Amino acid sequence: MRCDSCGNGEIRLGRKPKVVQRSGRVAVVTDIPVEECASCGMSWLDGPVARRVDDLFRDMLATDAVAIRPYSDAKAVA
Ligand SMILES: [Zn+2]
Repeated sequence: MRCDSCGNGEIRLGRKPKVVQRSGRVAVVTDIPVEECASCGMSWLDGPVARRVDDLFRDMLATDAVAIRPYSDAKAVA
């Protein structure tokens, strides 16, 4: 499997944090499973993973000014 972005890199599985800032609030989700290009560093989230991460960010940004949670806190999505 080759990278769509640079056309060179091999895609490998990795874990990355993601940061979202909204209305003066900051939320970080760590250890998100991603597919990552070894060459250019582009990374992609799987559809179901992206939905879980979005839900988790919505929770965090609704309640805390600053929040850090691991991806394993995300709720399972049917
Ligand atoms: Zn690439």
